[in-house]
Amino acid sequence: MTLVPSPAASELAARRAEVVTALRAVLPVHALLWHDADTTPYECDGLTAYRQRPLAVALPDTEAQVAAVLRTCHALGVPVVARGAGTGLSGGAMPHALGVTLSLARFNRILGVDPLACTAVVQAGVRNLAISEEAAPFGLYYAPDPSSQIACTIGGNIAENSGGVHCLKYGLTLHNVLQVRGFTAAGEPITFGSLALDAPGLDVLPLVIGSEGMLAVITEVTVKLVPKPRLARCLMASFPTVEAAGEAVAAVIAAGIIPAGLELMDKPMTAAVEDFVHAGYDLDAAAILLCESDGTPDEVAEEIERMSAVLRAAGANRLEVSQDEAQRLRFWSGRKNAFPASGRISPDYMCMDSTIPRKRLADILRAIAEMEQKYGLRCCNVFHAGDGNLHPLILFDANDPDQLHRCEQFGAEILETSVALGGTVTGEHGVGVEKLNSMCVQFSAEEREQMFAIKRAFDERELLNPGKVIPTLHRCAEYGRLTVRRGLLPFPELERF
Ligand SMILES: Cc1cc2nc3c(=O)[nH]c(=O)nc-3n(C[C@H](O)[C@H](O)[C@H](O)COP(=O)(O)OP(=O)(O)OC[C@H]3O[C@@H](n4cnc5c(N)ncnc54)[C@H](O)[C@@H]3O)c2cc1C
Repeated sequence: MTLVPSPAASELAARRAEVVTALRAVLPVHALLWHDADTTPYECDGLTAYRQRPLAVALPDTEAQVAAVLRTCHALGVPVVARGAGTGLSGGAMPHALGVTLSLARFNRILGVDPLACTAVVQAGVRNLAISEEAAPFGLYYAPDPSSQIACTIGGNIAENSGGVHCLKYGLTLHNVLQVRGFTAAGEPITFGSLALDAPGLDVLPLVIGSEGMLAVITEVTVKLVPKPRLARCLMASFPTVEAAGEAVAAVIAAGIIPAGLELMDKPMTAAVEDFVHAGYDLDAAAILLCESDGTPDEVAEEIERMSAVLRAAGANRLEVSQDEAQRLRFWSGRKNAFPASGRISPDYMCMDSTIPRKRLADILRAIAEMEQKYGLRCCNVFHAGDGNLHPLILFDANDPDQLHRCEQFGAEILETSVALGGTVTGEHGVGVEKLNSMCVQFSAEEREQMFAIKRAFDERELLNPGKVIPTLHRCAEYGRLTVRRGLLPFPELERF
């Protein structure tokens, strides 16, 4: 898939020569790649089904170089796609055929941890987990913990407003960031938020968080750190049906309990991860819930007791509480490795990501089971259930165009069913290119125009990550005409992403 119609080879070569010449004037030799062999590793992110080589890849070392790359591209009207670790799952960092990929990989320094203010100042390319590792000697950690935290960067987390197991209790990226610094498309410095809890003037920090690299290139971030709890224990509950597990999630929250993590895995997912990490999961259960409690030993003991009572009343037929830290980490290791485990049982998988009201979990699980029959593809389910955030993993083989096609339709139907159930097409993985069409279902033309207006306020020429996130009126009109009947999509030759 390309974001722009493939330019003629001669046009591409001429444009590349022009852009490379201009960028060589502002970057050291080692910071610019443009030969196919060097740019191929950048052709996709975690959504590997869609690929596109960029014109060139810039790997600046300093903020001055970031500004210079942006100014140069702005002057030439060249699109720029920022890139962190490339672990995104919605194609957000997929290159533009006529654009420059701007990698923040070399912005990997932690500039300081302030244990009194409970903050850390880090460059955008710092890995999520590295922040907690640096803060650990102070008894602190950075709470949002995407399962990709060993690799993904804080810049990418901000661009996607990433979530994780701990976000139910401690908030998403949005709630754990004080200040974001970076550069506009024109290469001008820009600061969002402040070092205090409240920024003077209009607070536009929430605009950049979740903006998917469309408003600014982020170079430096000040994050909040939270004290490491004295104790954490994980309760594993087995259910005879996925519907009962879904209803148990709603029951826990309704009982006034906010666990430190509340995750659901269905039987196919549990089997896949157990085979991979041997976490000790109940392989007979139709679904299992992992519920974490953290705090002082007394708080944890009381909360585990209350959660156990609620889960039993909701139909749990087996409960197991981690007895030590090693066992707690083992329980979580399966959940955290759900995606790689799926990669072991299928040539490819597409991870969908939508959100529904918690009380509709059982409904969506039923609907997904029907879709498996309809599209003839298997689906493993792993959810940030406490947030109502779904991650159905559709298994397919990308070498078979028909399977890819059915997978896309399956995914679109999950997203649109989520909207019908009162939810959203976006969960925590952003829109990227993956959910462009589904955005047409969720938002009206007026709402989409307002989103474009915000983009243009920061990036008048629409050069930062163009063609992603907000679908055009034309695209939505075309998508609206393409109604699936008896499982067949008319005009299958038309590009739909
Ligand atoms: C195995 C696996 C598990 C995952 N689990 C989770 C999970 O639990 N929760 C979750 O939320 N996500 C999860 N993800 C998705 C992904 O890791 C997150 O979206 C992450 O935030 C992406 O970070 P990145 O550095 O890899 O960004 P990239 O993939 O490089 O980029 C993502 C987007 O951010 C933009 N961007 C990146 N850096 C910058 C910057 N410095 N300035 C401006 N824009 C920028 C890019 O243009 C792109 O639009 C998972 C992915 C994998 C592969």
